[in-house]
Amino acid sequence: MTDLTNKIQDLKKEKNAVILAHNYQRGEIQDIADYVGDSIELSRKAMQEKDAKVIVFCAVDFMAQSAAILNPEKKVLLPTLGARCPMAQMLTVDEIKRAKAKYPKAPVVLYVNTLAEAKAESDVCCTSANALEVIRSLDSDTVLFGPDRNLGEYVAEETGKTVIPIPEWGFCPTHLLFQPEDIVVLKQKYPNAEVLVHPECSGDMRKVADFIGSTSKICRYVKESDAKQFVVGTEDGILHRLRKENPEQEFYIAYDGSVCPNMKLTTLERLYASLKEEKHVVEVPQNVASKARESLERMFQVKC
Ligand code: SF4
Repeated sequence: MTDLTNKIQDLKKEKNAVILAHNYQRGEIQDIADYVGDSIELSRKAMQEKDAKVIVFCAVDFMAQSAAILNPEKKVLLPTLGARCPMAQMLTVDEIKRAKAKYPKAPVVLYVNTLAEAKAESDVCCTSANALEVIRSLDSDTVLFGPDRNLGEYVAEETGKTVIPIPEWGFCPTHLLFQPEDIVVLKQKYPNAEVLVHPECSGDMRKVADFIGSTSKICRYVKESDAKQFVVGTEDGILHRLRKENPEQEFYIAYDGSVCPNMKLTTLERLYASLKEEKHVVEVPQNVASKARESLERMFQVKC
């Protein structure tokens, strides 16, 4: 343990804090966290930590906002103020209102990768881990879905429902970097490797995948697979967790540059400063938070 990690551990005890880290965080942040997971796993953890006074959410803005919405009695800190998900910024409230006016009967399902104001306009939220179950649970055959077009297309393929994207072209810049040509090259090198792909990747990537799933589903899949080698099509932070949990297996990223710069903004130094000074508190206006919370809670009610 370094001096800094010791100091963070001491502060954590002193302030009765819990550190949550997304699967895409730097290795050293994952190592110091109490829990590492995807957005739904971390939201659940935040709610289960009844005695904690402070939650340090090492991720990006929308995830910390969700934790603040679901845990109004706790102080939620985002260690790096500028850690924003560009995809979440792609969907505006006006865009949702326009889509609702055009398709008044279609429920609005929003990926949790949205800002609180957008969630407040939705009927139900979903994550990449439960999107299929959430969409299947709805009576309507047509849904408005945003902001990730690729996830929307995947959901439409799997459920047979009509999925209308809002906005028309929402995307994750990191997952768009993956290309099937790179998989061909990697498969020549590692012919027995299984290809695991996140649904935020393009349809062409989904076609070459052996398994499509969220980061939590990818981690679960690996544990149950007999394969020894895997090519992974999602942000490269996941490799740290996969290698730590499965030291006997080998993991190769499907594209070397698949780094989400926003996820990597959180460093141990920034985590320490945020916890020490209790700075970068995430606050969501009450009227927005209460509506967004309803949408998140509807998601939690769907059986997965
Ligand atoms: S990986 Fe993509 S969806 Fe996730 S935070 Fe980064 S930009 Fe947003």
